[in-house]
Amino acid sequence: MKSFRKELWIQSPDRMEFRNITPQVEEALRESGIQEGLCLVNSMHITSSVYINDDERGLLQDYGDFLERLAPHEPLSRYRHNLTGEDNGDAHVKRQIMGREVVVAVSAGKLDFGTWEQIFYGEFDGRRRKRVLVKIIGE
Ligand code: ZN
Repeated sequence: MKSFRKELWIQSPDRMEFRNITPQVEEALRESGIQEGLCLVNSMHITSSVYINDDERGLLQDYGDFLERLAPHEPLSRYRHNLTGEDNGDAHVKRQIMGREVVVAVSAGKLDFGTWEQIFYGEFDGRRRKRVLVKIIGE
């Protein structure tokens, strides 16, 4: 069995952003040379997410609105976590809602997606460099 590991670096200029990282994951899969197996993609931070859904502008805005309604950034005093001196209590909650990782089947050297599936990175406390782990195992 082969095993391949790669870190993707992401720096969002905004506090919150949704970014399609499918091309970078497909590039990692090509580099791995693996034809049949599994591909794990996870955020290495507790204030950002990796998830799968459609790449559609309205949907991305809906996610932002939905998350901001459930866990608004302000007032900062809303979150006990911010008593530590941080200001990202909302980002921890948003990451928990959107999840940590995805696993995609690898078939015939391709990510074996459903019709509209794409891999996204969801940033909730951006403006600094962050990492996403891609781990691929198989033959
Ligand atoms: Zn924090």
